Amino acid sequence: MSTQAFATAAPSTDRLTALEDSAYRIRMHALDMGETQGQGYIGQALGVADLLAVVYKDVLNHRPDDPEWPGRDRFLLSIGHYAIALYAALAEAGVLDVAELATYGSDDSRLPMSGMASYTPGMEISGGSLGHGLGVAAGMALGLRHQGSGARVYNLLSDGELDEGSTWEAALACAHHGLDNVTALVDVNALQADGPTKGVLRTEPVTAKWEAFGWHAIRVDGNDIGALVAAFDSLRGHRGSPAVLICDTRIGCGVPMLETREKAHFMRVEEHEWQLARKQLTDRHNRGSAGSASVGSQGK
Ligand SMILES: [Mg+2]
Repeated sequence: MSTQAFATAAPSTDRLTALEDSAYRIRMHALDMGETQGQGYIGQALGVADLLAVVYKDVLNHRPDDPEWPGRDRFLLSIGHYAIALYAALAEAGVLDVAELATYGSDDSRLPMSGMASYTPGMEISGGSLGHGLGVAAGMALGLRHQGSGARVYNLLSDGELDEGSTWEAALACAHHGLDNVTALVDVNALQADGPTKGVLRTEPVTAKWEAFGWHAIRVDGNDIGALVAAFDSLRGHRGSPAVLICDTRIGCGVPMLETREKAHFMRVEEHEWQLARKQLTDRHNRGSAGSASVGSQGK
């Protein structure tokens, strides 16, 4: 797994511990929501929990009690099936009440199984049809620049979304227009609906491709909160081109029994397993961060 070191001050232990606690709660929320449906994109939610904790607690400039505040940074979830992860993060951030998570996926809920902007506070775009998030990000970023706004646009993509030609058209446009208010976050979990990414359509070397498209590219272990914080710290001063943070993540990260599960793209978890999953998550958290404890535990 590739990692990079940055010339920034090391984040404080208190800051990292608070973020690890946030990631733990995000994972727990995702498990609780998953149990209400008995299945879902749990593996991905556990995989991006560290990234979402850092983004929502340490990076985004937003107002949890006013999710439509015009000056907010925009976070675009183009992968609508990751909605369960974003709901968990929005609850952790205080945009949603934790109690509302119990309605996940049920009739009349504001939390449908695929992300929909018209339903959920804090959900900027409707996702699901892949490959559109970065194009929307480009348009939003242009608009914000014309308005003289200092707000930034973040787009979370999956590695499967790199198969979409529209993603690369948008990447060209962002670089052409010098949109340094755009940051793409790519969840490289090496898996997509049809199987391992390297077998479906090879996208490596991912970093070199983004760089060739004119982006400032950084690649980190996406389950290492310290590495994520250092990467975002280094990006704060970047100007002149869009930036991409490529995050290598592990499906199911933090819950050992789910890290090795077959058919991980859409995971079925038996009724009796949810409580065990929560216990494993808590045991792992109490021993140290989810990510650092599981490095190397699963072949990718
Ligand atoms: Mg993937």
